[in-house]
Amino acid sequence: MKVLVLNCGSSSIKYQFFDVKETLVLAKGSIERIGTSSAILTHTRHDGDNIKITGEILDHNIAIEYVLAVLLSKNHGVIKDKNEIEAVGHRVVHGGEDFSVSVLITNAVIKTIQDNFELAPLHNPPNLKGIVACQSHLPGIPQCGVFDTAFHQKMPPKAFLYGIPYQLYKSHKIRRYGFHGTSHLYVSQRAAEFVGKPFNELKIITCHLGNGCSMAAINNGVSVDTTMGFTPLEGLLMGTRSGDIDASIPLHIMAKEGLTLAEITTMLNKHSGLIGISGVSNDMREIIKAKEEKHVRSKHAFENFCYRIKKYIGGYIAALGGLDVLVFTGGIGENSYEVRKETLTDLEYLGIKLDEEKNLNTAGEREISSADSKVKVLVIPTNEELVIALDTAKIVSEIKQQTCLL
Ligand code: AMP
Repeated sequence: MKVLVLNCGSSSIKYQFFDVKETLVLAKGSIERIGTSSAILTHTRHDGDNIKITGEILDHNIAIEYVLAVLLSKNHGVIKDKNEIEAVGHRVVHGGEDFSVSVLITNAVIKTIQDNFELAPLHNPPNLKGIVACQSHLPGIPQCGVFDTAFHQKMPPKAFLYGIPYQLYKSHKIRRYGFHGTSHLYVSQRAAEFVGKPFNELKIITCHLGNGCSMAAINNGVSVDTTMGFTPLEGLLMGTRSGDIDASIPLHIMAKEGLTLAEITTMLNKHSGLIGISGVSNDMREIIKAKEEKHVRSKHAFENFCYRIKKYIGGYIAALGGLDVLVFTGGIGENSYEVRKETLTDLEYLGIKLDEEKNLNTAGEREISSADSKVKVLVIPTNEELVIALDTAKIVSEIKQQTCLL
């Protein structure tokens, strides 16, 4: 089955076109700066052929038209007819409490995505724009929604309730949701395959460390706790996000500096984290470089980043009652041996022993723990698009089979 995977943001669309049977990405690309006269489309075909076009793309509907046009293009495309696209899979950020698995998009699903707009005002509206655009350009082609929050929906109340009046959970849906669920699910399942044990018999901690960072505690295939919360602001220190802070800090700063709600939101989401502490960069590579050049605030940022991961590892081992596998993924988790080393130093007591040489290896899925480490430590490159393609293909095949049986 050929599946188009779409990740529609407020001003960008990323796409991958899969041949699911062959697990092959036939083409992929993105459109950036949607809504301007200088939008940029970049497109790469599986054989390496690529193009970059700049021009006016004023909304998501037109952007999807361009994606389809480039897939159909005589010189750079991979299909001859739109009908070769058998299904579309959409990344949808917030499924609220309504979706714990991927679903076929129906009118009722669209209504629920809309109902969850207030939980993810920056993400769900553009996600839906992509869905509506596909309904118009690919009528009759089934579409599926794969939710960032879905994998964490089985967390118990002790993990998802905040210590605030319970009625706020009921009236405003304030609870921990967690994000990056597609990535945590993918790498934990791959980790189980890697160690050759059933997914539902393992205690796993996954660390997704990229621009956004989160961890999940996974017990017998179920995410039982995760560091991101009501929004993706909570938990670990991130590139530009603060992660955990005392809830009274924003109120105090607002009063002291006369900041508005919008200004404090921007401060916590865009000017905090690595860039906030270091003043140098939100990019871990720059932080490490500056730290090595003895830049003190970059050293603080690096150590704070790793220390928080270490604290959560300890906490999640306690929550899980043990640990079999620890997984690193995301741009930092996959690439930074420095972050992995700093984080895992002195955890032998908890059964975690890094092999320093293996930790320097770079490519692919790999083990980096020493032979006598009780816990296997793995690096597993994430692949959220593949999960979206596979989930979509599965849902659509099942529907086709049921239709045949009728
Ligand atoms: P992601 O959001 O998963 O694409 O991760 C992006 C982040 O990965 C970048 O902002 C960098 O901070 C980080 N990154 C990528 N390569 C490296 C590397 N070799 N060492 C440290 N950090 C890296």
